[in-house]
Amino acid sequence: MTTTDTMDTDATVEQSIAMIKAGSEYVRITAPNSRQAQNLQNIKDKLNKKGYPAPLIADIHFTPNAAEIAAQIVEKVRINPGNYADQKKFKIREYSDKEYKLEIDRIHDKFSPLVKLCKKHGTAMRIGTNHGSLSDRIMNRYGDTPFGMVESALEFARICEIYNFHNIVFSMKASNPIVVVQAYRLLVKKMIEENMNYPLHLGVTEAGDGEDGRIKSALGIGTLLYEGLGDTIRVSLTEPPENEIPVAKRLVDRYSGYKLDGSSKFGIHDSHFELRKTNTVLNIGGKNVPRVIVDLSFKNHISRCDLSSLGYAYMEEEDKWGISDFACDYIYIGNNELDFNIPGTLGVIQNLNVWNKNERHYPLISLDDLNKHKISSKLKFLDFKISNINHLSIDDIANDHSLVILSQSKDRFDIINQKKLFRKLLDNKCKIPIILSSFYDKSLEDLKIQLYSTIDLGSLLIEGFGDGIFIENQNPDNRKYVNSTSFGLLQASRRRISKAEYISCPSCGRTLFDLEDTTAMIRSMTGHLKGVKIGIMGCIVNGPGEMADADYGYVGTGVGKISLYRGQKMVKSSIESKFATEALIDLIKEDGNWVEPNKEGVI
Ligand code: SF4
Repeated sequence: MTTTDTMDTDATVEQSIAMIKAGSEYVRITAPNSRQAQNLQNIKDKLNKKGYPAPLIADIHFTPNAAEIAAQIVEKVRINPGNYADQKKFKIREYSDKEYKLEIDRIHDKFSPLVKLCKKHGTAMRIGTNHGSLSDRIMNRYGDTPFGMVESALEFARICEIYNFHNIVFSMKASNPIVVVQAYRLLVKKMIEENMNYPLHLGVTEAGDGEDGRIKSALGIGTLLYEGLGDTIRVSLTEPPENEIPVAKRLVDRYSGYKLDGSSKFGIHDSHFELRKTNTVLNIGGKNVPRVIVDLSFKNHISRCDLSSLGYAYMEEEDKWGISDFACDYIYIGNNELDFNIPGTLGVIQNLNVWNKNERHYPLISLDDLNKHKISSKLKFLDFKISNINHLSIDDIANDHSLVILSQSKDRFDIINQKKLFRKLLDNKCKIPIILSSFYDKSLEDLKIQLYSTIDLGSLLIEGFGDGIFIENQNPDNRKYVNSTSFGLLQASRRRISKAEYISCPSCGRTLFDLEDTTAMIRSMTGHLKGVKIGIMGCIVNGPGEMADADYGYVGTGVGKISLYRGQKMVKSSIESKFATEALIDLIKEDGNWVEPNKEGVI
């Protein structure tokens, strides 16, 4: 999607070309009013003249007039059913069935002219629900839920079907990837019930920038692609739009040519989260957060320096360790031994043949070892290849309360085998904790490791499975990247919160300030506020709704003017942008949610 002013034809054309050259197959452009919708014609003509006839999509939220103009120019019009012909004023009111029906009739009258125009001009329509902008009517009846998102879209689709218009696509976007996955799965089930079979456009909205944006996008989009869902995708980053394409292509390429096996459809907990109950084995399982394991087994010698990229900084003069919020919990050292004292929060996993029983050292054992030897350790890890799932006998392991299974996958399709393992354990009421592990060759590029591991491990985490993660990769140069990806993944799947979370919009023609720089600045000052959610939105029209569950909002309200929100409530308006970040920090302090950054331990 372009981020330029739609009235600036040249800038929009140039940016569209940059996106097309990067691999974009459609270009979406915002058209908030009739003038901008009309200018789509100039943009389209210029793109055609320059030899870039990519299909254009007009992004419409509130204005039927703009949509009706755009429908006669571009290939697809996207409408948001939460805003289009419906309203969101955050009012609480109950609708009787009769009142509800009257509202639907009113929507029908406002929406049907667009349907007729699209039908006449052969224009496609995306009915694009956003979690953060459900109408008051939907919110009051269905709540802020995936079910409400689905119903919001289906109400509009039913109107399309009255006019025998079927050129429609659905999307169910949210900034929380878990909501995204649940909503699409539910939509597909509902479509089947209503005998509908429309394509899906996938995306995680307001995913943010950098690592967080990529991980959130991969988690939502990748989980669904694996399940055979999705016909177009958009990765939505607070970065130049052409940066979105390499991420999108890697996600799509991974599953191209993949034939959906019926058994891989959906999850065990399709549309809800349910944490699997597990034994507590030292700090793994039970009520503990999922643990992070990092591989150092490929090294010939491991020194204190190797831990510096894993969240542990050794301070020589004081002979003590600084431990950051991103300090891994275990290292796997294979056949190595350590010749220094490890930090007090770190555990070490060693192969059984060299296991020295030192403090906080635990063995990695095979099924064979488990059956043949009596291994006395408070914690032991079972080295289990998930491809052997059919040979695993639960009776052999069920009563071992010091056992944790390290369940290793190697193939992009192993998610289904991991699900079989969880099904088997659930059916047998076996509570052995599982560390989810996935192997990536050391020659694989870092971005692919990040995206793939997010899908392979994250699609299980978001259903409540997994007591830890181990991204197995032996590239010596990316330890920090792998460690940070592990914590980012646990944060995105909301299983372990170790930093602040940002819901920042990707920006568009409505944006009123430099979102990229502002997001980077706010992140640098507040990143240490564990668990605090901050929305950074380019405009007041959509921003407050879209940042849904943020604790604080920083929203553009005019050129150089910012309004601050506490939750959904505006608490300061029209602050000059140069004072706005400070004002945001003051607001966080007022609420008692501020802590000073810890300079010593932070790496
Ligand atoms: S919130 Fe951001 S992306 Fe959404 S309409 Fe406003 S400026 Fe555009």
